[in-house]
Amino acid sequence: MKTAGQLELLGLDLAELTGLVERAGEPAYRARQLFDALYRQRVAELEEILTLPAAFRGSLAQQSVSVGLPRIEKKFQSEDGTVRYLMGFADGQSVETVWMPEGDGGEAGDGSDAGAPEGARAQAWERATICVSSQAGCAVDCHFCLTALLGLQRNLSAGEIVGQVLAVLSDQGVALERRRLNLVFMGMGEPFLNYENFIKAVRLLVEGVGLAESRMTVSTSGIAPRIEELGREAVRPKLAISLNAPNDELRARLMPINRKWDLEALLSAARAFPLRSRERLTFEYVLLDGVNDSPDNARQLAELIRGVRAKVNLIAMNPGPGVDFGTPADSRVSEFQRILIEAGVPTFVRRPRGRDIFAACGQLKHTVS
Ligand code: SF4
Repeated sequence: MKTAGQLELLGLDLAELTGLVERAGEPAYRARQLFDALYRQRVAELEEILTLPAAFRGSLAQQSVSVGLPRIEKKFQSEDGTVRYLMGFADGQSVETVWMPEGDGGEAGDGSDAGAPEGARAQAWERATICVSSQAGCAVDCHFCLTALLGLQRNLSAGEIVGQVLAVLSDQGVALERRRLNLVFMGMGEPFLNYENFIKAVRLLVEGVGLAESRMTVSTSGIAPRIEELGREAVRPKLAISLNAPNDELRARLMPINRKWDLEALLSAARAFPLRSRERLTFEYVLLDGVNDSPDNARQLAELIRGVRAKVNLIAMNPGPGVDFGTPADSRVSEFQRILIEAGVPTFVRRPRGRDIFAACGQLKHTVS
């Protein structure tokens, strides 16, 4: 267990670790050993880094240096295999991280493996997605989102972002080389309002942990200048834009951020975003019953995004206490999808995951248990 005031190694890149070992009078190659131990071997404690001499480990411990892995404070297991984690940091702050296994029994829609031992369940999936938080709480105030009710508590460090992934992988007993793992920055917070830490975490997840950037997606509520900045990064996830309305009047009502960067600013950043070959942008659209889910809204949306190489993910509103919107009927969701597809927009309906444990989109607010 760690305490506040320690130097945490997670979040340091190879250059920073090199500085640390050199200041300690150790040879530079120790930095690579530390880097591999932290990100590849996923050690939880300094004593587990057996490639380092005991004396060096001892001196690090004496200087209050720790690994800095978040503590798993609580786990909520859904009937569909989804696990919602409450992760605690050194200063007592906590965030949520969600594990979503899929395929070959991992997504037990009938709840058939809900009573299976943890080890057995961990083996029973083909692909999985981890949904990571980038801030504790959020300042953006999207009106359909439970996290917004928390307000912004603080930014997470790069180490705290990476640490969520490592803690979940270790808890699930995942050997990366055998698995197909996706990562989405769609948990608590607006990643682009914590940009430096978010993008450093991405680099560490690629270079250190060994995840593929092509399997990562970051979702933004529409911080247009950061979309342009992301486009210039050498290592970056795919981009999703949380759109939720086809015109400024409605979007500003649902997402106050639209008053700062309106649809024209957002769509112009989206059109200029340098997509890689075969890459598509994603527009996410949460359907709110009777608010933004009409056939007219669908036609307007198709018009708005015409010409952008993009797909649309439709998400029927996930109900939650304190949020005043309803879930549209399935027929309304299908009609919305049909109109978009007929207009030539690839459109998918995302199945809600972990609704029963408040792990689905927009439901992360850890006071609910
Ligand atoms: S939807 Fe995302 S950006 Fe909007 S309030 Fe919720 S966490 Fe923040």
